[in-house]
Amino acid sequence: MSTTPLTVSEIFDLAKQCLLNNGCNVDNAEAAARTISTAERDGSESHGLFRLPGYIKSLRSGKVNGHAVPKPEPLTPAAIRLDGDNGFAPLAIEVGTPLLAEAAEQLGVAVLTIRNSFHFAALWPEVEALAAKGLVGLACTVHTPMVAPFGAKKAFFSTNPISFAYPRPNKNPYVFDMATAAKARGDIGVAARDGHELPLGIGLDSDGNPTTDAKKIHQGGVILPFGGYKGSAIATMIELLAAGLVGDYFSYEAAEADNKDGGPARGGEFIMALSPKILAGTDWGDHSEAFLTKLEQMEGIRMPGQRRFENRLSQAPRQINSELVETIRELTAG
Ligand code: NDP
Repeated sequence: MSTTPLTVSEIFDLAKQCLLNNGCNVDNAEAAARTISTAERDGSESHGLFRLPGYIKSLRSGKVNGHAVPKPEPLTPAAIRLDGDNGFAPLAIEVGTPLLAEAAEQLGVAVLTIRNSFHFAALWPEVEALAAKGLVGLACTVHTPMVAPFGAKKAFFSTNPISFAYPRPNKNPYVFDMATAAKARGDIGVAARDGHELPLGIGLDSDGNPTTDAKKIHQGGVILPFGGYKGSAIATMIELLAAGLVGDYFSYEAAEADNKDGGPARGGEFIMALSPKILAGTDWGDHSEAFLTKLEQMEGIRMPGQRRFENRLSQAPRQINSELVETIRELTAG
C-alpha cells in the first residue's frame, strides 16, 4: 500500500476544503475536519479521513444539512436536549458539550441528548473534552443493525459504541472508547479480504451457524456482541439510552429511514457528565489517583487510551493511504 505523508494540519485543511466544496458552511466543515484530523493525529484511522467519502456522499445525496445550526433546549437545569438540525454530529457535540459541562459543574450531574444528527466518528473526543474540565464523561450512540443479540441469528443492534473518561489531575484521563461488537466490521472486512480465519464467537454465517470464516461473516452473516449475553445486555442499554431516552431512531429504525447513500445514518447520542468534586468531595483526585496508579503499575497492564495518547505526541506527518488521498482530492475538485 502506498502512503502520502500529511501533517495533522494538512489533514484538517484537506478535510475542511473537501467539506466546504461539497455543501458545508465553515462551522460545519471545521467541526467535522477537527474530528477527522484529531482521529488521524491519535491513530484512530478508521474514523479519520477514511470516513470523509461517506460524509461527502451524504452531503451530495441531500441527506445531511451542511449548514446545520444546532439548537440547544434546556429541559431542566440538568437536562439539555440539542437538535442537530440534520447536520453532522461534530458541530452538535461542540455546541452541546460546554453547556453540559457547565450544568454538571453546578449540579453534580447533567445529561445532553442529541437528536437529528449523523454520527460517523469515534466517541472519545466528547468524553475527553469533559475530562479536560475535571468531569467524568460517558457517551454512547447507535447506527444501523450489524450485530445479532445473544441467542439470535439476525442483526438487530448496531456495533453500539460507548466511551467513558475519568479525569486525572495533571495527567491524561482514564478513557476507553469501544464498540460492543465482538469485532469491528471493518476489521472483519480486512480479515475476509486477506483470507484470515477468526476465532469462534466473532460471528455467524448467513444460515446462523457459528463460523471462523471471516468471508462468511462479512458477506451475509452477522457479528456477535462481545462477551455473550453480557455484551448483548450492554448493547441493549446503549440502544435504550441513545435512542429510547434521546427520542431518536433505534438502530432498526435508522436503517429503515436511511437512503443507503453510504454515509452515516441518522441517530441520537446520549452524553452524561458527572462532577467528582461535588459527588466525591475535594479529595476525589488523590483517592482515585491512588487506585489508577496501582492499576497501571500492575504487570501486564496497558491502559485504554494509552496507544492514542502516545500517537498524539508525535509531530511527524501521518502516513495516509494514497488512493484515499486521491479520492478526496477528486471529491474536492467536484
Ligand atoms: P478497540 O477494540 O480497538 O479499542 C477499544 C478500547 O480498548 C480503546 O479505548 C482502546 O484503547 C482499548 N484497548 C485496546 N487494546 C487494549 C489493551 N490491550 N489493553 C487495554 N486497553 C485496550 O476499538 P473498537 O474497535 O471497539 O472501536 C473503535 C472505534 O470505533 C471507537 O472509537 C468507537 O467509538 C468507534 N465506533 C463508532 C461508531 C459510530 O457509530 N460512530 C460505531 C462503532 C464504533 P486505545 O484507543 O488506546 O487503543
